[in-house]
Amino acid sequence: MSFADLGLSDELLRAIGDSGYTEPTPIQEKAIPAVLMNKDLVGIAQTGTGKTAAFVLPMIDILGHGRSRARMPRSLILEPTRELAAQVADNFEKYGKYHKLSMALLIGGVQMGDQVKALEKGVDVLIATPGRLMDLFSRGKIMLNDCNLLVIDEADRMLDMGFIPDIEEIASRLPKQRQTLLFSATMPPPIQKLAAKFLTDPKTVEVARPATANINIDQQIIEVRSDKKRDVLRDVLRAEGFKNAIIFANRKTTVRDLYTSLKRSGFAVGQIHGDMEQPARIAEFDRFKNDEITVLVASDVAARGLDVKGVSHVVNFDVPWQPDDYIHRIGRTGRAGAKGTAITLATREDAEAVAQIEKLTGMKIPRTGQAASATEAVEPAEEKPARVPRPARQPKPKHGSREREQPQPERAAEARPAPVQQPLVERELEPADEGGWNGPLPSFLSVGLS
Ligand code: AMP
Repeated sequence: MSFADLGLSDELLRAIGDSGYTEPTPIQEKAIPAVLMNKDLVGIAQTGTGKTAAFVLPMIDILGHGRSRARMPRSLILEPTRELAAQVADNFEKYGKYHKLSMALLIGGVQMGDQVKALEKGVDVLIATPGRLMDLFSRGKIMLNDCNLLVIDEADRMLDMGFIPDIEEIASRLPKQRQTLLFSATMPPPIQKLAAKFLTDPKTVEVARPATANINIDQQIIEVRSDKKRDVLRDVLRAEGFKNAIIFANRKTTVRDLYTSLKRSGFAVGQIHGDMEQPARIAEFDRFKNDEITVLVASDVAARGLDVKGVSHVVNFDVPWQPDDYIHRIGRTGRAGAKGTAITLATREDAEAVAQIEKLTGMKIPRTGQAASATEAVEPAEEKPARVPRPARQPKPKHGSREREQPQPERAAEARPAPVQQPLVERELEPADEGGWNGPLPSFLSVGLS
């Protein structure tokens, strides 16, 4: 099937051609015709499947008719993190270049005043994180009476981050007669409930998890003693065939320390974590995209959904606490048909977390012998991370707090292995939305797409 068979406009087909895509991905093939027919949609798919274009493309054609009014966006896309919101904005710029649409990005880390100015002119597409949007509601700066198209992206991630009450509040402020699209990698009961409440007779489309299906990713576990992790990491980064890597660590402090240590060892390295202001994160990400640096040390939240072509390696410096995060992390490589390598450094302490990942992905990850001898030695007692059981449910974080609490674990309960116990203190979430940004605005803050 070609894009031309999906019923998209000639302008859009031209923009798709310019981006070099020849065939729709399975989620695009299934979702685009239904969205163009104004149907509600539940898309069970995660990043890496082409799901962003699956809603951006038909939205551009739907919004191509009609005009925006001051302070009344015509469509709203909710994203759990700033990075994902910025990437969706990039997609609108890329595919909407032959259309005359305007958009605004409402995310934390960008000065509120500039965002309000963009909105006051009237926009066709508003892309927002729930926290910042709720802030604007409370100041009476925005009306959603004209917003006839709502996209809730990464719904299960929203659940983890405690955003579901905000989403319910936002959805109830939109006109009842509207089109709603919900995307989620998994459908735990709270997301099913959300879909039942806010979608009308939706079409459900589902595509395979890219990581479990992605044979282009060579997955390996290197068993290592925790005091040898940095040595092993340096070996990986110097090995033959290495081009560039995103290195994931579970804690912000580890991201910072690793960054410093790799820099000292002479690597062209950058870092990205939730404590950094948005301009700094974007700058680091751009340096990595432009090959100015070859190693990017990242935390899960900051790196969620990052889309860079040609990443040769993903290294899990720490085994992720949640098996889902493993799938998201390794999905940063092996994209768009390319080959990739995903290496996980695992200590004895990680056996349970590794077992859960293998249960979720349904495959045994090969162990390499490289550092196996290191595991023979007894782990020094002081290396063992403190394990603090997590409560089953945590109160929703308050808007405006500088640092949010850690993700809610609810979705792990559904048809999933029990969540791995993890330290409470260091797990990070997006910082609150009120951070200031005094530098120049990003190009996508409010742009004409013509
Ligand atoms: P997403 O799942 O939206 O994060 O997209 C994953 C990657 O697939 C991004 O790099 C997209 O640019 C790319 N992509 C989207 N649609 C297509 C397509 N039809 N053919 C090839 N790559 C695509």
